[in-house]
Amino acid sequence: MFRCEIVPVVETKFDSLPLSSALLGVIQELGYTQPTPIQAASIPTLVAGTDLIGQSKTGSGKTAAFALSILERISLPLRETQALILCPTRELSAQITREFRTLGRKHPGFTVTGLVGGQPRKAQRDALARGTHVVVGTPGRVLDHLQKRSLETHRILTLVLDEADRMLDMGFGPDVETIIGELPKSRQTVLFSATIPELITDICNTHMQNPVRVRIQEPKEASVGIRQLRLISRPDEKFHSLCWLLNKFPHNSAIIFCNLKKTVIEITNKLEKAGLSVGRLDGDLEQFHRDQILARFRNQSVRLLVATDVAGRGIDVEGLDLVVNYELPKQTDIYVHRIGRTGRAGSTGVAISLISRNDEKRIRELESSAGVELEVLEKGPVNRSDAGTLLRPLAHPCAMQTILISGGRKDKVRAGDILGALTGDAGRIAGTDVGMIEIQDKLTYVAVARSVSRQAVQRLNNGRIKGKRFRATLVETQEIDEEKAEADSRKKKSINSRASRSR
Ligand code: ADP
Ligand code: MG
Repeated sequence: MFRCEIVPVVETKFDSLPLSSALLGVIQELGYTQPTPIQAASIPTLVAGTDLIGQSKTGSGKTAAFALSILERISLPLRETQALILCPTRELSAQITREFRTLGRKHPGFTVTGLVGGQPRKAQRDALARGTHVVVGTPGRVLDHLQKRSLETHRILTLVLDEADRMLDMGFGPDVETIIGELPKSRQTVLFSATIPELITDICNTHMQNPVRVRIQEPKEASVGIRQLRLISRPDEKFHSLCWLLNKFPHNSAIIFCNLKKTVIEITNKLEKAGLSVGRLDGDLEQFHRDQILARFRNQSVRLLVATDVAGRGIDVEGLDLVVNYELPKQTDIYVHRIGRTGRAGSTGVAISLISRNDEKRIRELESSAGVELEVLEKGPVNRSDAGTLLRPLAHPCAMQTILISGGRKDKVRAGDILGALTGDAGRIAGTDVGMIEIQDKLTYVAVARSVSRQAVQRLNNGRIKGKRFRATLVETQEIDEEKAEADSRKKKSINSRASRSR
């Protein structure tokens, strides 16, 4: 079996880790004062090129652990893929890609390419053909590029399987196996996972060589900084309970998790009807809409997000202070992941689970396996008619709106250019009316105060950025077509019943 190192949490400094001064410089600029336990425990092993199985709670900095180690090991002059990161979702892939860019900003010429579904293959092929040091992607699309020979593997030094348990849960096992078969035998294999079920042990036994296993044991640590509560609610009172707690627990940003897409749509509609600014995130949305919603959630021009687990997985949003389990997840690790969205990196958060009497047994199992006890929240007598009243104080339009600009990093757009275009000479937009500016490869999201948003769109459309004209549009709330969704599900049902009749 594995060499197992259950690592005690020891005080370590970044400069005692085997990292170059360039990386230490970036770390300092980011304001990271100390490596997290998983970083301290895994970076030396990773930089040494040894296989590793890492297990630590969500939000503990695993991405930087492998990204820093990979940046330390790659050769910049060699413009070929030297590391491959596989992860379960597009959102996570985008997040890892961003983190590589941030951490690699003092590595001149460093490039990282994301290979995910739902995006044109040609742009990805072109990026690969130009040469890229690191590839991050979801198994399906990565395999696609391997089979079409657009992704070269012979220089790959390191393979990382991030959120391996989730990848297997999502049925990516066979794809991952095929991909591994295409990689050089001499590579380093790294696996990060919240849980290590048997299937993962199989992968480790078959594809890893003398892996070091690092597990950060934090007794009840998952709950540090997160207040966990539960509220008993009859199924027909759930929505009312949700309104009550949104009102009772003031928040900057909140995620409401549901088990089913159907519930996501239902809740989003009801909250929207009550006048709240709310985004919906589930696997059925077009990638483009998912990106938009997430950008708006990150820059706080949407404060409420209703999501399924798949879509909400691994998402790291600063200032998220409330997580609601509208439906209790079936597995403990999903519960831990959901609530881990809040209370990130030392801030505090509240996680509230809505449960029915029937959930009591599951709650007890969950409490014992997660090593926590949920505080009981009492709501008092319910007056069902007042859900709207409860939401009224929250139903003001968000102070910020998001503008989408049709240019990004590839067009050499920088945050300063956009700020300049908005606040410069003839303009009357104050710097304080401009919020977060998020620059992606080909587009940019900028948050601006609602009161100046039309004017800002006009300025951006009329002016130039880096001497070029870009299109700017206001990103409005996505239309939820409830009727269409219902019609679709009716259609499916009738097809199913026809199929069963003809059997
Ligand atoms: P995980 O993959 O373990 O769930 P992430 O890699 O998403 O966690 O990291 C969570 C957050 O912690 C990120 O916002 C990241 O920027 C931040 N972070 C990472 N390392 C450190 C550190 N040493 N000090 C402070 N914050 C950190
Ligand atoms: Mg992670």
